[in-house]
Order: sequence, then structure tokens, then C-alpha cells
Amino acid sequence: MTTIPYARQSISAEDIEAVVQVLRSDWLTQGPAVARFEAAVAAYCGSRFAVAVSSGTAALHIACLAAGLSAGKRLWTSPNTFVASANCGRYCDATIDFVDIDPADGNLSASLLEAKLAKAQSEGTLPDVLVPVHYAGHSCDMAAIGALARRHGIVVIEDACHALGGAYRNRAVGACEHSDMAVFSFHPVKTIATAEGGMVLTNSEELYKRLMVLRTHGVTREPSLMEGPSEGGWDYHQIALGFNYRLSDLHAALGVAQMSRIDDFLERRREIARRYDEALRGLPLELPARRADTQSAFHLYPVRIAKRKGGPSRRELFDALHAAGVAVQVHYIPVHTQPYYRRLGFHPGDFPNAEAFYGSVISLPIFPGLTTADQDRVVAALHRLLA
Ligand SMILES: *Cc1c(COP(=O)(O)O)cnc(C)c1O
Repeated sequence: MTTIPYARQSISAEDIEAVVQVLRSDWLTQGPAVARFEAAVAAYCGSRFAVAVSSGTAALHIACLAAGLSAGKRLWTSPNTFVASANCGRYCDATIDFVDIDPADGNLSASLLEAKLAKAQSEGTLPDVLVPVHYAGHSCDMAAIGALARRHGIVVIEDACHALGGAYRNRAVGACEHSDMAVFSFHPVKTIATAEGGMVLTNSEELYKRLMVLRTHGVTREPSLMEGPSEGGWDYHQIALGFNYRLSDLHAALGVAQMSRIDDFLERRREIARRYDEALRGLPLELPARRADTQSAFHLYPVRIAKRKGGPSRRELFDALHAAGVAVQVHYIPVHTQPYYRRLGFHPGDFPNAEAFYGSVISLPIFPGLTTADQDRVVAALHRLLA
């Protein structure tokens, strides 16, 4: 009996051929495939600009730098996320804080944000950057969050690493209608895979120019950005402290090929979610909530185990599913409870909604290549263990 993973990339013969073509070409590092990949994602999401980088984490880092985040400034994010959503602020020496989640969907709560902003305003500790995370692929309430951020002059960077292909109020996630920038990851478990890879989307030409410089050492050849006249065709100016965060053409070619399949990927994920919705109804599980104005990309299908006498604990269910060949995962250990963040002064109990969510959640397998037979195995195991 093979083990069913919780997530897996889907690589076709065409995807492989696209990478092989780059290997036979003149360019291996950042070249024409990167520009094609950026254009494909920007067109799909409806943003003006896109900057491809070597990972979603690198994308978050340069987005924070482009937003002007630095020592003494503040970044707020959700505790129900991968550590990268907060670490990007620490890379800039900023102070991190969290806004607790709405237990209904696991997303940063707009009403808790409003209350926390009011308190911060009276104390003079308003954040400079806010990173809402679209947990499981289901967009945060960005109209409410964006309006609060604008009122207080806060830069909004959407951590949309789960949500490529999702939509909010009839616009694709990544359109940046209620934010300054949106960040995607192309890690193999995400909507599309480039092995490692990430992207920042924005509608601001100014932010775009900063991002382009930051991904490649802070170096530019663009006359309008150079400080003083060029000394010749070889000349470049380093105008900021940037990084080598470039994506290679090998990765980008895979990204372009995957983008041509994205609608099939999303349709399959949504179909799997619908089948879980039906097959798990009646079990002591809370299924993923969806707002009517939001279309999830279904990066995850997280279920929460109802507490009841005689029923298995989350740990028992996790272990029993693994023993049955279903490699479920848990998303997420609240970031503020990690040892590194505890050393910065956070404690268990600081964000009770995220901690309670973590205490009962399990991510079921969902990915385009999950067969109906394998999904039925997951469902049967859950019925057996929870009946
Ligand atoms: C995957 C992920 C990241 C980091 O992306 P990488 O490409 O692995 O660096 C950041 N935030 C969230 C919410 C993610 O799921």
C-alpha cells in the first residue's frame, strides 16, 4: 500500500521538455524565460508588474525592503502561517507582532486588526507593514483590511503563497486591488511548481523599480536610476544593498509550462474539495469555511476535529492516518510559539484563536494528481477512525 502525501507537484512531459529546451539554449540563469514567466503570472492575476525571484521567502524579503521596512519599524502578520511571513520582517531588523485569526477561516481577523490598530495608535506603535496571509488559499477580507491600512498609512504585502488561482470579489488574488504588493511561492506543494521560486506582484511602478534592483545586488544599468552620468557601456551603479535572489531560466521555463496548466490544476483541487465536503459531512469534523465573495485556490483542505468524549485526539488521529498510509500534515504551529519568537518575548496564550485552531487542525491530501481511489481511501480511513 503506497503512502498518499498531503501535497505533490504535477509534472508533465511538456513541463520536462520546456526545461530541457532551456538546457540546450544560450541562457541558463535569468534570461528570456524569466520575463515570459513574469508576464504570464501578471496577465493571469491582472497586476501591472511582476518580479520573479528565487523563492517565496526572497519575495517577502525584498517586498519588505521595497516598503521601506528597517530597524525600529514594525511588521504585523498572522500567527497562523509559515515562519517566513514573520521572518521577512526580522531580516530587515523590524519588530514583529501578530494579529490573531478569525477561527472561522484561519485568516487574520479584520475586526481584531481594527481593535489592535486603535490601541497602537493611542500608544504610538502603529505598524509600518502588514502581511495578511491567505490561509489555505482562501483570501483574507482584503477590502476591510486594505481600508484599515490606508487609514493608517500602512503598506500591505499579501502573503498569497497559498492563493495563486484564488479570487476575491471577482478579481484574481495578486491583482493588488487592496494591497501594495502580493507574494507567491512556487514550492512544489503550491498551486504551480518551479522547484524553488517566488514572485512579487504590484501595480506601483516605483515599487517595481525598487524590487528589480533589490533582487540583483542593488545594481542597475538604467540611466534614470543611476546616480550621475554613465561612464560607458560597461557601467553599472550599485544604488542599494540588494541580493542575488534571481530565478534561473530553468525554473522560469518550468513556471511558464505550469502556468499553461493552472486552470486544470485549480479545477481538480476544487473538485477534490467538493468531494471531501460531501463525503465528510456528518463526521465530527469542522470543514473549511468559505465566504461567498471568495473563491479558494484550495492549497490546503484543513479540517478541525470536534472535541468529544471517546473520540480520538488530534495526535491520535494524525498517527492513525499515517499508519493507514495517509500522510496528513498540520498547518500551522503558531509562529509566536516557536522558540526563536519566544526569545523575542512572545508566550503561549498571546494569540488564543491561532493556538486553539492549531490544537485541532489537520490538512487532508489535496493536489491535482490525487486519484479518486486515493481520495476514497482517505475518506474511508476517516470514517473508520471517527465513527
Ligand atoms: C510556502 C510559503 C512561504 C515561503 O515560500 P518558499 O517559496 O518556500 O520560500 C511563505 N509563506 C507561506 C504562507 C507559505 O506557504
